[in-house]
Amino acid sequence: ADFKSVTSHPHAPLFAVYQVFENVAEKYDVMNDSMSLGIHRVWKDILVHKMNPSPGTLLVDVAGGTGDIAFRFLNYVRSVRERQLQQKLRNHQNLSWQEISKSYQEEKSNPLGDSQVVVCDINKEMLKAGMQKAQHLGYSEGLSWVLGNAEELPFDDDKFDVYTIAFGIRNVTRIDLALQEAYRVLKPGGRFLCLEFSHVSNPLLSRLYDLYSFQVIPVLGEVIAGDWKSYQYLVESIRRFPPQEELKAMIEDAGFLKVDYQNLNSGIVAIHSGFKL
Ligand code: SAM
Repeated sequence: ADFKSVTSHPHAPLFAVYQVFENVAEKYDVMNDSMSLGIHRVWKDILVHKMNPSPGTLLVDVAGGTGDIAFRFLNYVRSVRERQLQQKLRNHQNLSWQEISKSYQEEKSNPLGDSQVVVCDINKEMLKAGMQKAQHLGYSEGLSWVLGNAEELPFDDDKFDVYTIAFGIRNVTRIDLALQEAYRVLKPGGRFLCLEFSHVSNPLLSRLYDLYSFQVIPVLGEVIAGDWKSYQYLVESIRRFPPQEELKAMIEDAGFLKVDYQNLNSGIVAIHSGFKL
């Protein structure tokens, strides 16, 4: 099937999705910034703040692409650990210099407090771009990259404290399978967090958003990445994706409890959260 015919199918087959991200991998970050006017950075920050990971957290970021969530996670736990150390020193002013020095040394030798993030993505070009970015930005500790499909994760049961998927679940062919896999790999007590484009309820904003999506985004795709079709696919896949309540029900069907969601920018994106309890 040619690209056009598969994108008109309600579930774009895996190979077409693969091709999209293979095509855009190199320009992926530039495109993200230009299409969202940089707002995707704020959405990702909000996701990691909502997660509020403590040092020692083991995270799997599925469809993790070029590592945006992973890098934010590492920054976040590092700053929590620094704050904890400062607090410890403030609250114990009569600590001996040996104790102070020991705390500093511990923090310095293990700034992440054993936290780890595994970035898992089906596309090796995206992972390659992410690994290059990590090297460039100086991330190495606590970070690993795994090629794998969200529908059949290459991990043991009950392994991770948190599972994230940011702008990824929309591209998965069988969302139900991906959710079941998320449930399987989480530890009991673990948290599922999904950041994804969703549906805007405000009619005026919705019209403006449609105009922007259908008229501007494919043009940007063509101008910046020389790839109109991949960005047309992006817009179509956003429109086809289940609305907030429907996705919530699917997450519950996979077994998660305490499922809720938070709309950002009137529902342009939403963060769904659930727990394996
Ligand atoms: N999470 C990153 C971010 O927020 O910048 C990347 C999001 S990007 C829009 C979507 C990613 O999903 C791509 O890297 C693509 O390769 C990946 N992907 C698509 N289908 C997948 C699947 N079945 N399993 C794992 N990753 C998948």
